[in-house]
Amino acid sequence: MSDGRDGATRVAAGPRLLLGSPIAAEIRAGLTRDFAAFTAQWGRAPVLAIVLVGADAPSAVYLRQILRTCQKVGVEGRLVEIGSHATADAVCDEIERLNADSAVAGIIVQMPLPSHIPLHTVIDSIDPAKDIDGIHPRNAGLLSLGYDGFLPATAQASVEILKRSGIEIAGKRVVVIGRSNVVGKPAALLLMREHGTVTVLHSRTRDLAHHCRDAEILVVAAGRPGLVTGDMLSPGVVVVDVGINVVDDGEGGEKLVGDVDFESAKNVVSAITPVPGGVGPLTNALLLSHLLRAATDQAERRESERVR
Ligand code: NAD
Repeated sequence: MSDGRDGATRVAAGPRLLLGSPIAAEIRAGLTRDFAAFTAQWGRAPVLAIVLVGADAPSAVYLRQILRTCQKVGVEGRLVEIGSHATADAVCDEIERLNADSAVAGIIVQMPLPSHIPLHTVIDSIDPAKDIDGIHPRNAGLLSLGYDGFLPATAQASVEILKRSGIEIAGKRVVVIGRSNVVGKPAALLLMREHGTVTVLHSRTRDLAHHCRDAEILVVAAGRPGLVTGDMLSPGVVVVDVGINVVDDGEGGEKLVGDVDFESAKNVVSAITPVPGGVGPLTNALLLSHLLRAATDQAERRESERVR
């Protein structure tokens, strides 16, 4: 039952569910129009290159989703598969080729990489103008200074779902669990940008529950199923569960769960993002909005260089 607020549903006697799908659908509708206009103006749809080194099952699920979203909005998704035994140089060479390909507007590299490939060499080789998931040091630096670079899409989605659901962040005590470069740290920076009073917790934090109980907004990105339980929360807290974990469903299959134990949390929180269906759907839509910006910037730059 919708309660009339964007992306929000209230279930009987339960918390407000902050749903990503309706917000993502709205963003995708705008993108479909904008990509059609881009293609009409510049003669071809932009390409999103997804670099996959080796293959594992969770990557395959994610890749299918992103390629489907590309198709929906009129973007050409190009999967660049590299064998798991490739050297770091071979991976960087492939990225250099994509950097030089004017049809390719954005590049994402699927994580995790095989352990013999140093992450930073691969990240450093991406052209910052095509780094639409904001992992290059230039974009990370721009974010920390409050400039307008490409934001890591998952971190942005965790903040955007609050804003688009009408949840005030300014002045609130906001607690983030996780300090990774792709989710926790950029989410904390973005929440500071929204004037939250931000505390970051991580694997070495003592007494996690004590800090969690202080939160008016809690963003959890630890990758640990069931890490946060209802007894660690203050009544009325808003919870954004970024975790995506594949666990046994008790019936011989598997299911997706977040980092928050939904059953014990649901009677304490005022609002919570479900897993699946919360932050996840929003991430891809935001990523493609970054692709539109990258493609437009690159096309305009090429045009101005041509007429100069
Ligand atoms: P990561 O493993 O790189 O980082 C995990 C962070 O959590 C670390 O900073 C660590 O210090 C902290 N942590 C781990 N165990 C902890 C504990 N017991 N107590 C407190 N802190 C702890 O993971 P990541 O890449 O940041 O991803 C985090 C989660 O978000 C994962 O479940 C991942 O699958 C999910 N994710 C979701 C999306 C999406 O679209 N929703 C996208 C990317 C990642």
